[in-house]
Amino acid sequence: MGKPNTSNRKPSNRSANHDGDGIASSSRTKEIIRKHHFTFKKSLGQNFLIDHSVLDQIIAAAELDSTSGALEVGPGIGALTEKLAEAAGKVAALEIDRRLIPILSEVMEPHPHVNVILADVLKTDLKQLWAEQFTGCSKVSVVANLPYYVTTPIIMKLLEEQLPLENIVVMVQREVAERMAASPGGKQFGSLSIAVQYYCEPELVCVVPGGAFIPPPNVESAVIKLKRRQKPAVDVTDEAKFFHVVQTAFSQRRKTLANNLSALSGKDRKGELSELLIACEVQPERRAETLSLQEFARVTEALEAKGMLNVSH
Ligand code: SAM
Repeated sequence: MGKPNTSNRKPSNRSANHDGDGIASSSRTKEIIRKHHFTFKKSLGQNFLIDHSVLDQIIAAAELDSTSGALEVGPGIGALTEKLAEAAGKVAALEIDRRLIPILSEVMEPHPHVNVILADVLKTDLKQLWAEQFTGCSKVSVVANLPYYVTTPIIMKLLEEQLPLENIVVMVQREVAERMAASPGGKQFGSLSIAVQYYCEPELVCVVPGGAFIPPPNVESAVIKLKRRQKPAVDVTDEAKFFHVVQTAFSQRRKTLANNLSALSGKDRKGELSELLIACEVQPERRAETLSLQEFARVTEALEAKGMLNVSH
């Protein structure tokens, strides 16, 4: 829909809504759905937000202003898009479901600085999208009520592609939000926590009950804010090797660190591996979930120095 909009216009104060409630009101959402004979696709994670206070918390967490850009993944019928249009100078919204494009086109009509794009976010060249959509914006945030079936791949793509983004504010399954924000030592701490915390500072914004959506998802949800760090949380010479060590350490959670990491060093070098871990002040019998990012970084550098890592990029 529409040509890429390169100029940053002032956010519009006009609401797309005829009764002042915005798209997210339950009655307006139902009306739009009825009018367009829209049927929800569970396979696309379609649970639309109908709670203004949750939307307002998402918008407040994103800290947008009239010079900012916002990328929304999965606008649905535009409940969040409408609020983004009011808060940001430029909005690009990627929607995979072709049936939603004419609806969005209609409801976003009062907001010319919103560009709806029919696309699968996972197949989109985001660097190019940034250049086309957000040139001239003072900062860009990703703000979305994510489709839960692809939460982790979307987050990982946003983090790994080194995009110039300020923060990510997203609705996800509560359990996934808790894993992203988890500290070492608990069951929820794992490779997702480390990947997220390497690049960002996570902050749980709010827990959201099923009743905030149409239809209600059968899991609890939460909004999480990931504030991008100026530089990664730990210094490593090779990120790919660091994440490979982390993945390997968590490959079998019940096993000790030494047992899991012997997959990298080779079984015949297990004694040497134990000595290396002790020299890093990490006891070999610890479980991966107890290690901090700093300890993982230390272990990675030591394994690399001893030629015990063989990672192809
Ligand atoms: N933002 C709307 C709201 O809050 O009411 C809808 C959120 S709904 C949870 C997720 C949306 O993501 C749906 O509109 C769905 O069609 C869309 N979607 C699913 N997979 C997608 C993908 N790979 N790329 C882009 N959009 C996707």
